[in-house]
Amino acid sequence: MSHLMPTYSPLPVTFVKGEGVWLWDDKGQRYLDALAGIAVCGLGHCHPKLSEAVCEQAKTLIHTSNLYHIDKQEKLATKLVSLSGMDNVYFCNSGAEANEAAIKLARLHGHNKGIDLPTIIVMEQSFHGRTMATLTASGNRKVQAGFEPLLTGFVRVPYNNIDAVNHVAIHNKNIVAVLVEPYQGEGGVNIPQAQYLQDLRRICDENNWFLMLDEVQCGIGRSGKWFAFQHSAIVPDVMTLAKGLGSGVAIGACLANGKASGVFKPGNHASTFGGNPLACAAAFATLNIIEEENLISHAMKLGNFIRDRLKQSLTGETGVVQIRGQGLMIGIELAVPCSGLVTKALERGLLINVTSDKVVRLLPALVMQLDEAEQVVESTSAIIKEFLHNVDN
Ligand SMILES: *Cc1c(COP(=O)(O)O)cnc(C)c1O
Repeated sequence: MSHLMPTYSPLPVTFVKGEGVWLWDDKGQRYLDALAGIAVCGLGHCHPKLSEAVCEQAKTLIHTSNLYHIDKQEKLATKLVSLSGMDNVYFCNSGAEANEAAIKLARLHGHNKGIDLPTIIVMEQSFHGRTMATLTASGNRKVQAGFEPLLTGFVRVPYNNIDAVNHVAIHNKNIVAVLVEPYQGEGGVNIPQAQYLQDLRRICDENNWFLMLDEVQCGIGRSGKWFAFQHSAIVPDVMTLAKGLGSGVAIGACLANGKASGVFKPGNHASTFGGNPLACAAAFATLNIIEEENLISHAMKLGNFIRDRLKQSLTGETGVVQIRGQGLMIGIELAVPCSGLVTKALERGLLINVTSDKVVRLLPALVMQLDEAEQVVESTSAIIKEFLHNVDN
């Protein structure tokens, strides 16, 4: 009998080894991984250089405390700042914590301006995490139900709808920030119109609000740029990172730019583990390996290839609503709920995901090769076709 709290419903498989985009279970069966630990293992499993950097650091120094200078943290911050064009970084241990930091930063900024009830605009279908503040910010009743009372200080608008944001700007004088995913992940791989971030940037500038981008899922190369905002020729005030940053060693980051970079003062926020030497070594190695192996442009090409091939294979199939995405965030929306596809894929040795009930989601590692991607396309298409034909019957 399991002594774990039943917060998850794990699939009946136990992986014991990984290499590149392949995983092996405890029976020796091999699986092609098109999910990468939900966008975490961008370098694939156990990239030799990453494993070496983690082992080296584990043998030298794992943890001290933020009571002391941490050289690896300084180096990682400098690297993130140079890649993003932002000004400074706060390190934590997860995506929810990174967003929690962003929310606190925005509220403090509001109070500094004399706004007693600082309020943040958030989006429908968004996902920002499972802490009380981040589940309140999330646009998904399933993550909130049963945990009321929720926090105050959030107003929700439809995603990809600038008029709705303008409307709030006119009627609510307590707004201090907009928190938004440049591309929504859990909400169904939703890609807004091309001008969306530019329009949000302009509204934020006009109203003296912070534009806060949750790049926990789409950041670190997955979109085909280092950061999704770099597709839009804007810079946010705040950006949060986590999933792909440490390749599976827990680390999150909240970056700030300009005025936002001066909001937190000593004592305002802290984390015991945040940015410890081990986590920073993993993240620093991750960024360097992505750079050395040109994985950003590869992610862009591979994403286009996968979407093109999926379209060739699935267009015209009744029940396939849309194939969409950006870089290696790929969604196939079906007309009917399809969470059962995950087990069907597993039985064929393929790891995929279904989000928002009807969207098959692929989040392959940035290191996936073309022939492996072709296998993902063939298996995924076959499973979807089989599923749709059975539904028809
Ligand atoms: C996964 C995710 C989070 C939450 O990250 P955790 O590390 O699970 O706390 C927040 N925002 C987005 C966009 C995510 O995809």
